[in-house]
Amino acid sequence: MTEKSTIPGQIMTMPLTVTSIFCHAMRAHPEAEIVWRNSDMSIDRYTYADMGRRTQQLAHALTVLGVGPGDRVATLAWNNNQHLELYYALACIGAICHTINPRLHLDQIAFIINDAQDTHLFFDTTFASLVDAVSERCLSVQGWYSLTGPDRVPEMNTEVSDYETLISGQPETYAWPELDENAAMALCYTSGTTGNPKGVLYSHRGTVLHAMGVSGGDWLALSSKDASLPVVPMFHACAWGIPYAALMNGTKLVMPGPGMDPAPLQELMDGEEVTMISGVPTVWLGLFEYLDQRGEKLKTVKRAMMGGSAAPRSLIEQIELGHGIDVVHGWGMTELSPVGTLSVPKWGEDKLPDDDRIELKTKQGRALYGIELRIVNDEGQTLPHDGVASGMLQVRGHWVASSYWGGAGADAFTADGWFSTGDVAAIDPKGYLRLTDRTKDVIKSGGEWISSIDLENIAMSHPDILEAACIAAKHRKWDERPLIVAVRREGSDVSRADVLALYDGQIAKWWTPDDVVFQAELPHTATGKVSKLHLREQFADHKLPTDN
Ligand code: ADP
Repeated sequence: MTEKSTIPGQIMTMPLTVTSIFCHAMRAHPEAEIVWRNSDMSIDRYTYADMGRRTQQLAHALTVLGVGPGDRVATLAWNNNQHLELYYALACIGAICHTINPRLHLDQIAFIINDAQDTHLFFDTTFASLVDAVSERCLSVQGWYSLTGPDRVPEMNTEVSDYETLISGQPETYAWPELDENAAMALCYTSGTTGNPKGVLYSHRGTVLHAMGVSGGDWLALSSKDASLPVVPMFHACAWGIPYAALMNGTKLVMPGPGMDPAPLQELMDGEEVTMISGVPTVWLGLFEYLDQRGEKLKTVKRAMMGGSAAPRSLIEQIELGHGIDVVHGWGMTELSPVGTLSVPKWGEDKLPDDDRIELKTKQGRALYGIELRIVNDEGQTLPHDGVASGMLQVRGHWVASSYWGGAGADAFTADGWFSTGDVAAIDPKGYLRLTDRTKDVIKSGGEWISSIDLENIAMSHPDILEAACIAAKHRKWDERPLIVAVRREGSDVSRADVLALYDGQIAKWWTPDDVVFQAELPHTATGKVSKLHLREQFADHKLPTDN
C-alpha cells in the first residue's frame, strides 16, 4: 500500500516486501527463463510468468491448508522450481519458509523442526528416508508433501501427499495481502558447529534491501542479460539471496537440483549460457580441478562468487588466470541474510599487476551499502581500520539479525546494537576486510594469536596441495601450535618438508607450522566448509615433533 505523506512534496512510501519483487518480476520480465535439474537429473524450464501462475496456485493451496501469517512451513529440497515457488508463495501470503539443511544430523533436523514448530513440510524424493526417520518425532507437522506428482510419490512409512495434486486446479491469480515490511518471511538455522543450531528470521524489508545491495553494479552486477547459477543451496541462507536478486533484475535463474558434481554443473553452465556462478570454495576446487584435468574451460561464465569460507589464493589464481573468470570473494553469515562484504576491485585496482589484484581478492572485500563493520578488542574498545589492528568483528545493518529465534544466543548481541560475528579480522583504510580466523579456530601460541587462514593459504600455494586446513595442536610449552592437515593432488608425492619450506620468509618464523600431515580428504560440514571441529577431535592427541 502506498501511503500519502502529510508533508507536501514528499516521496511516497511503499512497503519493501518480497511480494513487490514477485509482482515486479511478473510485470517487467514475464518471458525471462528459469531452468532446473529434477531429482532424476533431467532438465526442465519455464518462464517467470509460468512460475508466477504456479506460485499463485500454491498460495491458494496453502491458504486452503490453513497456512496463515507467521506460520512456519518447512522445506527439505534442492535448488529447483518447486522450492522457488514455495519461497515466494509462503512469503507473499505472510507465512515463513523454513529451509532445512538435509546434511545436518537427524537429531538436529528433528530439533529444528520442533524448535520452529513447522506446520507442514515439503521434501524432494531424495530426502524421503530422512523424512521417515524424523516424522514420528515432529508432532507439529500436520502434513508431509513430496515435491512430485501423484505417480512419483516414494514408498514411505510416513503418510504423504504430493505437491502437484495439491496445487492443481487452484486459481492462477491471488490477491496478495498487504504485508508489514518488517514481518518475517524466511527462517534459516545456523549449522550448529557448536551446540544446537540457532534460528534466524529474515524479514521482507531486510531481504529486499539485501537483494538490491548484492545486485549493484559494484558487487554482483546482476542484470537481465545474465544467467545466474547458484550452486549454494536454497537450504543454506536462502542461496545467498540469489533467488530474490535474480527475480528483481530479470536474471535467468539456473538451478542445479541434486547435480552438484563437476560434470552435471559443467553441462548446465555451458548448456544454459550461465554468466554468474556462486558457491563455496570446496565446490569450485572440485569443478576447476575437473576442468583442468580435461583441459576444458567454461564457455560463458564471467563471474564466480565464492564465500562461506576463505577463498584460497591458489584457487583465485587458477580461476582468474587459468580460466579468465572474475572471482568475487564474499563474506557473510546466516545472521546477515547472508552477505556482508564482497571483494570487487575499485577504480584503478582492476589494472593492478595480476599478483597484487589476486592478493586483494584474498581479502573478504568491502562492506555493501547497508552494512557497517567494526572491530573490537577483548575490553570492547573499537580498534582502528588501519589494516594492522585485528580484533573481534561486529556488524550492524539493514539485514543483520537483532536476535535469534526463541531468544537463544543472546550474548552475541551487544548492548549498543551490534552483532558479534565470532570472526577475527582487520579492516584496512580503503575498507577491505581481512578475516584471519573464527574466534574458536584461532591458534593461541604462548598467548599470541596465529591466523589459521594465512597458514592455510600458504600451504595451498603449493601446486600439488589440493586442500589444507590449519588447526591448533596441543603443545606443552606453547599451549597450542599450528598443525597443517593437507590433501595431496592425485599422483603427487609432495612431502612434509616441501610444505614447510613454503613458509620461509613469508611469515614471522614463530608462525611456521610445527607439523604437516597428509590424508586422502578433509571432513566437511553440512555447509561445505572444512570441519575443524572434527579435525581437532581427530588430532586431539597428535604428538608434535617439536613437543619434546
Ligand atoms: P555456520 O556458522 O553455520 O557455518 P554460516 O554460513 O553462517 O554458517 O557461516 C558464517 C561463517 O563462515 C562466518 O562467520 C565466517 O567464519 C565464515 N566465512 C564466511 N565467508 C567467509 C570468507 N569469505 N572467508 C572466511 N570465512 C568466511
